[in-house]
This record gives sequence, C-alpha cells and structure tokens, in this order.
Amino acid sequence: MFKLAGKLTELHNGNEFKVKSFMGNAFKIERLPLPLESMSPEEIEKIEGIGKGTQAKIIEIIASGTLKDLDQLVSETPVGVFEMLSLKGLGPKKVRTIWKELEAESVGELLYACNENRLIDLKGFGDKTQQQVIESIEFIQENSSKFIYAKLEPIALQLIENIQKSNVSELVSLTGEIRRRCIELEKIELVVAEGKDVSLFLKHQNEFEISEMKTEEGKISFRINKSIPVEIFLCKKEDFYSTLFKTTATPEHLSLIVNIEISAASSEEEIYKNAGWNFIIPELREGKFEKKFNEQNKLNDIVQLNDLRGILHNHTTYSDGVHTLEQMANYCKDLGYDYLGISDHSQYAVYAKGLKLEQIIQQHKEIDSLNEKLKPFKIYKSIEADILPDGKLDYNDEILASFDFVVASIHSAMKMDEAKATARLISAIENPYTTILGHPTGRLLLSRPGYPIDHKKIIDACAANNVVIEINANPNRLDIDWTWIPYCMEKNVMIAINPDAHKMEGYHDMHYGTLAARKGGLTKQMTFNALYLKEIEKWFRSSGT
Ligand SMILES: [Zn+2]
Ligand SMILES: [Zn+2]
Repeated sequence: MFKLAGKLTELHNGNEFKVKSFMGNAFKIERLPLPLESMSPEEIEKIEGIGKGTQAKIIEIIASGTLKDLDQLVSETPVGVFEMLSLKGLGPKKVRTIWKELEAESVGELLYACNENRLIDLKGFGDKTQQQVIESIEFIQENSSKFIYAKLEPIALQLIENIQKSNVSELVSLTGEIRRRCIELEKIELVVAEGKDVSLFLKHQNEFEISEMKTEEGKISFRINKSIPVEIFLCKKEDFYSTLFKTTATPEHLSLIVNIEISAASSEEEIYKNAGWNFIIPELREGKFEKKFNEQNKLNDIVQLNDLRGILHNHTTYSDGVHTLEQMANYCKDLGYDYLGISDHSQYAVYAKGLKLEQIIQQHKEIDSLNEKLKPFKIYKSIEADILPDGKLDYNDEILASFDFVVASIHSAMKMDEAKATARLISAIENPYTTILGHPTGRLLLSRPGYPIDHKKIIDACAANNVVIEINANPNRLDIDWTWIPYCMEKNVMIAINPDAHKMEGYHDMHYGTLAARKGGLTKQMTFNALYLKEIEKWFRSSGT
C-alpha cells in the first residue's frame, strides 16, 4: 500500500518528498523479518528505522484495512489509468504523460495509440517502450473473456484448414456468432460432419495449445492457447446443412423461418427456399433486419469487398502514419483500386503531428506530381479535420476549400453528454466543407464505449446536408455501429467503408469494415467508395469543397 501510494502520488504530480518517503518506507517494510500483521501496535512502535508518522499509518492499516491518503489518491485516478500502472515498461511519470497528453484513460485506448505510433513521439518514450506496452496489453486482453472479430478469424480459419487437411472431415464450417461476423464475440464455433476422430486429431496437433477439452453428446469444447474457447458441433453428413443453419442463427432468426422440414437439406439455400424466403447471408441472421430486406428484395445488392473501387481516409508520414504518401499511393494502386483519399490529421491534433498550412501546400504539390505519374489512378486531397469542442472545423474556409473532400472527426474533449455531443457533431455536419463524418462515436470495442449521441438526429442531419457517414473499418472501431445502417439507407445517407490506415497494411482492414457493413445490410448502391472514379469525382466537385 505504501508503494502504491508512492506511485499514485507521483502519478498525480504530488510532492517529490512525499513520493520518496512512501517508496522508502515500502522498501524498508518489505525487508522486515516479520510480517507486520502479526505485530501489536506496541511492537510496531518499537521498530527501528521507521518514523513515528509511518508507524501510525501501519497501525491504521492493520486496524482498518485502509490508508486514508491512499484512498484519496485512488478515488482521483480513473480505473483505466490505474490499470496502466501495472503495465511493464510504464512508471507513474510515463502513465501521467499518456493520461494527460494523449488523453488515454483506458488500457484499450493506450493500445490503440501504440498501434497508431503515437507513443514514440512523447517525451521520454521510444520504440522499445511502445513495443513493451503493446505486448503487455495484449497479454492482459487475451486473458479477458471477450474478443474482437479480427482476433478470432485467423485462428478459426486455420483450425478449419487443419481439420480439412488431416482428413478428419471435409465438411467443416464456421458457425454461430463468428459466422454471423459479430463484432465482439466470446468464442469460436464450428460444425464438423462425420468428425469422430476430431478430438483425437486435436490432441495430437501441435500448432495450437489445446486445453480443458470436454466431450459431450454431439459437441466438443476446449480452449486454444489457454484463452480462446472453441465449440465444435458434430453431426452426420446428411445433417450438416441443417445443423449449420440451426447453430448459425440467433433464436430470433430461427423463429422467423418456421413450418419447414430442414433435416437432410442439401444446402442452406434449399432451407430458405422451402420456407419461402430468399437466401439470407449469415451476417444478417440476427432476427433484426432480415425480414424487411427479404420483403424489399434487397438481398442480392449487399456490398462485397470487391465492389469497393477506392480507399478513403488514410494517413501518411505527413502526420502520424508509418508510410510515405508515395508508398501509400503505390500500394493502393497495386491492390487494384482506382483512387485513394489522403486524410492526414489537422493542426489541432498536435499529438498526431497535425498538418500546418505549409505542410498542406507541400502535400498538395506532391499529390499533383504523383497524380501525373500514376494516372489514371487518382489521389484525392483530403484532411481529417478535428471537430473542435465548439463544433467548428480546425481550419478556415479558405484552407478547407483547397481539399477535394473533408473527413470531420472528434479526437479530443470526448467527455460529453448526449446533448452536447450531438450538437457538436451536427454543427460539423452543417459545415458546407464536411464530406464525410469520421468514426461518429469514437468508440473502441471492448475498451472505450464512445460518447453518447442521438443517432437519429445525426443521421437526419447528414441526410439534410448531403454528408456521408463513415464505417471505420479498423476492427477495434467499426464505428458507425452496423445496427444504424438500415436507418442511414432509409434516409438516403451513403456509407463509406474507410480503413483509416496508418500504414500500408491498414488497407486490409476494409475486409472487417465490409463484414460489419454487410451485417447492417449495406447495399453496393449506398456504399460511397463503391462509386467509380468518375462518379466520385463528380460528387466531390458538386459538394461544398
Ligand atoms: Zn480519426
Ligand atoms: Zn484517421
């Protein structure tokens, strides 16, 4: 407790001598030959080398279990900041810098900042600290009970491949929440047909560490690498599709598909056909929107990754990205896309090296010459303009007008009530230069809930002002939440699937963004970056900037 009090005093920038005294006492107490709790107050008062004041505190702790000074410090420290103190490589001073300068108040926010390379530029930090922090946080997260989709997908696919290769069974599929592409999930679920030997196979493969294996009627469950729960449903070959159908859907979805005989179905398509339905993709089988989509006959138009023609909202070394503008452009072109939007941070985002006017001018020159070199591929000039606390954007109109499009996002002062957050966003949406509303709630899955907003009012404002809404494809964000996509489409608000890439590999997050968009039934027609170059060019020309 003395050590913790010392750390917290330092964290809160308290008196240096106080810090030293707490730490010194902790050091001495640790080295006492006898446990203090077995000593009487009289004995404690006789310990040499420990001052009277400290002796009194020790007696207080033994009697009450608490230390007043410490309680006060704990109550002033956000839980997430408190957790950071236990991360390897971070002392109280560094945690304070992270808390005060990056405004990160949870371990998840800190991890996100590390992945965006923000730690290395803070005073007293470096590459090594950042890497240590990442590893330390990932360890803690692996031991908590929920996972983001991107964490489980590669493991699940590898597991399927291994089972198929081993000849245990060829009929293997994802099922349950991972097949529905839920954005946060508890486990991996698979269906395996005729997989009698699957448990034997699992015991003898060495790619993953398998533990806690349990077998019951028709089901095997176990953990991978001591953390990820896996459930395998076993069935006969002829029951594969009916089992897949039943284990994929939520009970709400199953209750919609009624009065049909599903055993021995030869495909899921057959099951839906017999029920008088169009085929429902697994993503939609939540019992939420599929009935309406089925009636509106929109199920064939749902967006796919290869419908996307361009990649918008990306960062370069001009702000906090890892790769240069040229590298980002070449890689985008190599992947077969027709256009790229470069949206580095604006000047208000000092932590992310937001662009000053001279850098904007320099970047625009570089874009012009690259466009000459790479045509018909096109790089669009953009900026991720901070939405300031009063709702204004971070540059004057003249500068805003120099971009092809503007992404407006909130990155600071995120502690707001719903009314304030909604008003702040609406004022940015009403700015004639705003093209896309970036990550509308600022949430980070499993670690930061995001500020509360009135989604309907925000979407209505976007409709009125011809503003596109982003679904940020970073698998930690997936913001706007997919459940709002149907309302966006109803209001004719287009959605851009944006990777917010801070390095070349970041483009591949569009895979996760697309899956989340499909969960909300987003159609190709309503996907902003599924527009062809000529169409999007026309949009940029006709909109505010
Ligand atoms: Zn952003
Ligand atoms: Zn961004």
